[in-house]
Amino acid sequence: MSAEKPRSPIESGCPDGFQYMHPVMRKNYGAWKFHEHPKPGVLRHVGYSGDEIWTVRVGTQRILDIFTLRELCDIGDEYADGYIHFTIRSNVEYMVSDPAKVEPLIKAVTDAGYIVGGTKNSVTMLSHTQGWLHCDIPGTDASGVVKSMMDELIDEFRECNMPNRVHITTSCCQINCGGQGDIAINVQHTKPPKINHDLVSNVCERPSVVARCPVAAIRPAMVNGKPSLEVDEKKCICCGACFPPCPPMQINDAEHSKLAVWVGGNHSNARSKPTFQKLVAAGIPNNPPRWPEATAIVKNILKAYKEDAQDWERINDWIERIGWPRFFEVTNLPFTKYHIDNWRGARNSLNASTHIRF
Ligand code: SF4
Ligand code: SF4
Repeated sequence: MSAEKPRSPIESGCPDGFQYMHPVMRKNYGAWKFHEHPKPGVLRHVGYSGDEIWTVRVGTQRILDIFTLRELCDIGDEYADGYIHFTIRSNVEYMVSDPAKVEPLIKAVTDAGYIVGGTKNSVTMLSHTQGWLHCDIPGTDASGVVKSMMDELIDEFRECNMPNRVHITTSCCQINCGGQGDIAINVQHTKPPKINHDLVSNVCERPSVVARCPVAAIRPAMVNGKPSLEVDEKKCICCGACFPPCPPMQINDAEHSKLAVWVGGNHSNARSKPTFQKLVAAGIPNNPPRWPEATAIVKNILKAYKEDAQDWERINDWIERIGWPRFFEVTNLPFTKYHIDNWRGARNSLNASTHIRF
């Protein structure tokens, strides 16, 4: 074993990212004149200084083992000026300042089994939450859904055939870190939690669990002489928010935890206003290891979008133009009573306030 002492942890937040940037990017930071897209997976940025930098984007599965990471870094050392960069959607980007290095770099990554793409009007890599890997409340393995879907969408990652960019996200619970996406695949619990009353008094801080419920469906109760909780199942919206602070309120269920597909979410306000995503398919089986039902719905939506949308329309713009009834027609998705938000207990402010609830 090496006698080298491990470095002390940095306790003051993220290290300064500039030290890891390619020197040409550092020099031209905030001073780029234009950029272009010579081919799928490749970007060329030109600065006011006359410098240029070429970026090659490569898809990864996000959760990387150490061997894969070393392999990607070795490619960066040998073919890409020694720099590597991860995007928020788990793509790796290599940057080179010499255009002659672009093709050898692409050959090196594709020979190693990776895919170049994900730029401009493609389906870029699905972003996913942590799932079973290091979270304590997931109802599915988000990374598994990503892998299965990207296997089917690989050509849409490699090519730029969509009307505009498509961001797809997954989320392995209903309440926390899933993101907004043009298409989002989210867990959907369909039954209230089952309470293990023997454990509640030992494990849960009951006032915080009661406070956590967005619809005030949880009440303190005495069960078998022990302090516990009870759920008003008529009010419960099966969100799962009580499960993290109180694991004895188990909501994950092999049969009743489903997937739902939402569309039209967009954070950006570059061309149109940001939009919330809306539910278009519910009760989809949470069916590992390949999730064929959810994948078929996503492919179907993408096919309709590709055929029907005008150039540069994102999915939300496309639906805005054609209208929701037409969306359900062209995608052949059934419109059911579950698509209508008519729940009277929702109050006007359900999950719509900026207050953080613990
Ligand atoms: S989406 Fe939910 S279950 Fe998944 S990692 Fe985030 S908090 Fe955990
Ligand atoms: S699942 Fe959600 S709505 Fe139902 S009791 Fe728990 S916190 Fe309340």
